[in-house]
Amino acid sequence: MSVLLSNATQILTMKRGIGVVKNRSILIEKGIIAKVGSINAEAHHRIIDAKGCVVCPGFVDSHTHLVFGGSREGEFAMRIRGVKYEAIAKAGGGIASTVKHTTKASEDELYELGQQRLRKIVRHGTTTVEVKSGYGLMPEVEYKMLRVINRLKRRAPIEVIPTFLVHTVPARMKRDEFVKLVVEKMIPYVARKRLAAFCDVFCDDIAFSKKESEQILSAAKDYGFAIKIHTDEFANIGGALVAAKLGCKSADHLLVSTKRDITALKKAGVVPTLLPGTSLFLRLSRKPNMTAFRSTKSGVAIASDFNPGSCMIYSMLKIISLACLAYGMYVEEALLGATKHGARALGIFDRVGSIEEGKQADLVLLDVDDYRKIPYEFGEDMVKCTVKKGKVIYGKNN
Ligand SMILES: [Zn+2]
Repeated sequence: MSVLLSNATQILTMKRGIGVVKNRSILIEKGIIAKVGSINAEAHHRIIDAKGCVVCPGFVDSHTHLVFGGSREGEFAMRIRGVKYEAIAKAGGGIASTVKHTTKASEDELYELGQQRLRKIVRHGTTTVEVKSGYGLMPEVEYKMLRVINRLKRRAPIEVIPTFLVHTVPARMKRDEFVKLVVEKMIPYVARKRLAAFCDVFCDDIAFSKKESEQILSAAKDYGFAIKIHTDEFANIGGALVAAKLGCKSADHLLVSTKRDITALKKAGVVPTLLPGTSLFLRLSRKPNMTAFRSTKSGVAIASDFNPGSCMIYSMLKIISLACLAYGMYVEEALLGATKHGARALGIFDRVGSIEEGKQADLVLLDVDDYRKIPYEFGEDMVKCTVKKGKVIYGKNN
């Protein structure tokens, strides 16, 4: 049965800017967008009434750490009271706490937690999500996380893209020994078992150096992974240039990137990805250089960076608001970032991220009559329904 999403007040096609089309319908056949235009309803159509709504491509959240054990609300409360991260880390909090709980948790427990979180993001209109490992650190626990992410990928109502994240050096291991372990054992194993599409590394002054990151990502490339990098969040140690040199699919955070870094990323076709939720949680005052992103015509992705330490935001709608309010992105830039450029950051823009004939019918119906209300009505629960490959996977009325 074909589906007709009828008479949307605005359709954001994401073609030529956000490509607003007014008072039109979307015909979906076999999960694919068959037509966008004036379409009369016929008997064989299942009708979804979109009158009064903005219809947008389903959100592509291209950077999350959705699978982990334990939670850190105690630490959050302490930080708000002014306790420093170093003191929290000394008391066993911080990433060490998540690593401990993730190590202890069974695969079934982690899977259950992952599923619960996926259900929430679907309610907020996300139809594609990237999920990273990185809280195991040691090989067996990293592999366990990746098996859980792959199980979610097989069973979730939305598309899950697994990434092997080399996050930090485990306690009790020497840096060079760990990098050697990653390069010689872990990357080959993850490749052989086909546990991840991407390999990612945290390149910053508190994590891996430029040289170590380059070593890790080069090895990953040799094993056929597409690569990503977390960089320029706290200090600029040249991570963006590594991303440009090695041809990363995306470079993420980029709070302290210079115009030169941004130009190099653009030239190399790396998708810059900004994570405003993390800035809010960490209460960082620095902002990305939007002027440079604009002058280089870089298409910037935005993502949630959902994680237990520095961003528990499930909703891409809130991330869109924050991109505007905290980073000064234009409304249109933020909407493109959460759809088209998110898809580019995952290398899947050929099938998702815009509303065009022949693309997957991944859509979100928002209960607002003007797209500028999406960030403007901050925190409002405006998702009327989420559609994945033509199927309603979440709806307020069903
Ligand atoms: Zn991250």
